[in-house]
Amino acid sequence: MNPASSSSTSNPPTGLSRAFGCTILGSGSKGNASVIHGPEGNLLLDAGFSAKELMCRLERVHVDPCSLRAILITHDHSDHTSACRIVSDRLGIPAYFMPETFCELSKCANKVPAHKILITPGSPLDLCGIHVEPFSISHDTPAIAFTFTVHTHKIGFATDLGFVSNLAKAKLSGCELLVLETNYDPVKLRASARPITLKRRIAGKQGHLGNPDAMEALAELLSPNTRNLVFAHLSQECNDPGLVAELAESRLAELQRQDVSFRIASQFEPLETFWLE
Ligand SMILES: [Zn+2]
Ligand SMILES: [Zn+2]
Repeated sequence: MNPASSSSTSNPPTGLSRAFGCTILGSGSKGNASVIHGPEGNLLLDAGFSAKELMCRLERVHVDPCSLRAILITHDHSDHTSACRIVSDRLGIPAYFMPETFCELSKCANKVPAHKILITPGSPLDLCGIHVEPFSISHDTPAIAFTFTVHTHKIGFATDLGFVSNLAKAKLSGCELLVLETNYDPVKLRASARPITLKRRIAGKQGHLGNPDAMEALAELLSPNTRNLVFAHLSQECNDPGLVAELAESRLAELQRQDVSFRIASQFEPLETFWLE
């Protein structure tokens, strides 16, 4: 695995006054949360751990919770939302989500934060000095992915997608840092003890992105300026980080893109911060 050209802490590199970056606090089917660092504050992207665990991980990467200005939620599944209300209410910051996500969260007690702002895929917003663009992805509940842009620097973040649509390809083009789901290995999924209906859901067009489809999509997703790639939301049962690393190495070699460094996000611990300079 190539080493990522990123620093090991979430403090901006010296001399980088308008820092822009991303710290993945954890990713997988048991919880997802990341920090997008902007020139005017930080955004929390998904809040799918317990509030206690989320605060521990923020402390571990030296991000002051008070520096968070908003929470962005991709969709209603609990591995993306479990601490949304508590963190939003406790920090007094708004949570941004789609009306459909609001409807789903409203069905459960205590899941909707006091301060919510509804967003629409395709309607960009500016937060913390970052141009934030939500766009629709195909999942078994209404879901969005995001791009984050500061000046000419762009981060793309897409997990929980059944396939990489033409819209997703267009939106994710030109990213210096791309975070892409590699949820399952089809052989491991087939061999797993999961019910056939669940296997079909995961592998379907409204499920999750498997290793082969993610690797295939790299041909169109990698741009000349892409420097770092993160594979995320790996299934613990139906995938293996070593396998994803092998596939990524051979795919990047095939595409003659060994200049792109890749990392694999963990369910259990944060990844080092990626700074875009
Ligand atoms: Zn998920
Ligand atoms: Zn999901």
